[in-house]
Amino acid sequence: MSSPIVVRFAPSPTGYLHVGGARTAIFNWLYARNQNGRFLLRIEDTDRARSSDAMTREILNGLRWLGVDWDDTPWIQSEHLERHRAECLRLHDEDKAYWCYCSADDLAARRAGAENHDTKYDRRCLNLGDAERAAKEAAGLPRVLRFRVPEGVTEFYDIVHEETAFRNEEIDDFVILRSDGSPVYMIAVVVDDHDMGVTQVLRGDDHLSNTPKQILLYNALGYSVPMFGHMPLILGEDKKRLSKRHGATAVGEYQTRGILPETLFNFLALLGWSPGEDREIMSRDEMVDLFDARRLLKKSSVFDEKKLAWMNGQHIRLLGDAELLDRLRPWRPAARASVPDDYLLLVLALMKERIELLADFFEKAVYFFDDPAQYDAAGVAKHWKPETSALLRALAAQFASCPFEAPALEDLVRRKAEEESVSAGKLIHPLRLALTGGTQSPSLFDMMVVLGRETCVRRIETALRSRELGVGSNE
Ligand code: GLU
Repeated sequence: MSSPIVVRFAPSPTGYLHVGGARTAIFNWLYARNQNGRFLLRIEDTDRARSSDAMTREILNGLRWLGVDWDDTPWIQSEHLERHRAECLRLHDEDKAYWCYCSADDLAARRAGAENHDTKYDRRCLNLGDAERAAKEAAGLPRVLRFRVPEGVTEFYDIVHEETAFRNEEIDDFVILRSDGSPVYMIAVVVDDHDMGVTQVLRGDDHLSNTPKQILLYNALGYSVPMFGHMPLILGEDKKRLSKRHGATAVGEYQTRGILPETLFNFLALLGWSPGEDREIMSRDEMVDLFDARRLLKKSSVFDEKKLAWMNGQHIRLLGDAELLDRLRPWRPAARASVPDDYLLLVLALMKERIELLADFFEKAVYFFDDPAQYDAAGVAKHWKPETSALLRALAAQFASCPFEAPALEDLVRRKAEEESVSAGKLIHPLRLALTGGTQSPSLFDMMVVLGRETCVRRIETALRSRELGVGSNE
């Protein structure tokens, strides 16, 4: 059964979906899904010059990619301008708003001369006599509609910050209708939230200072006030507000880099919320079950890129191999188009533990597809000793006939080491260099099975002839 809880995410399509917005969407979504309520979407496109349909599509695609689905068709703010305007005029008719004819120049001049540099509107037009007002109207002076802020204190309970209060005397008689007759953001949000039946508004701390003004409007319009919750902002690693300076901020950039949507969802959900018990790696469904708005954190959280990559590795490991292969499709280079899926699945099973970004896989697994083009110089210096060539030559001969299975190969290498009275590492490290060109790989014997006998023997022979390994001259 659905509960009366209605929340919303209200992006302005003037830019991409960024991680801060995505986090707001995620918290609202988790709240709605946990409470069996509704999660609505509102596109705040009243800034026609800066908004675009392309951005709206990008934002919706970003949300879909993250797995944040919404109820009903999105509410398009610009379709409700007449309603916003009518509510502004109602406030005027009810004496809760007044026309102001002061020009920008007048205001600037009066502010400059004001004692204490008070920047608040001085209410000159509130106090106009009827004749003065009629004269200004007759002269056709441009006018804006200002909300008449009542006296007192605006108090509310914030889900995150708890008891919160603002003194009304600090709030300007703000404009609600511009001189061209267009309603401002402040009133559009309130009227829409009311008309959409929104019961809880969870958004970033950057909106906290708007909240008292909006509550005053709710009261003036006779609407019931929703509950508010303001989440601390996300910080970069330098503890400054996260911005483009810190690198990627658009959700799409993480998608391109090979972060899984379930990782970004999990990571962003933990930037400002904690389910307790140190739980970190969670599915969307687990988070829906665990979500509790009372556990939203008051403290800002730092966006830690390294942690995000680590978390992605954890989520990669949770995927089945076939699923992972499917997710890797966009990163598969043309050069690997003909590699059979069966072979890729074997490689994946070994490499899954070793990748953090999807984009890494085909690069890190290169030696499963191509013979090494060169050998890691530091690895060669460390592991390729004068006796190595003879040892590997003898081993290669035995690989030619030994059953090509991991236990048999391991047994053979260890026996050989014993026979020659050397440690197994003296064979394992150079073998890895010969087979991969480097010093890092999944388990050597499992890898050899996937590469197959022919490839292994060929690569060892190539290494034995290579000048890079300092042995070519002895051939
Ligand atoms: N459109 C606003 C923004 O993108 C959000 C308004 C709100 O959540 O009340 O910041």
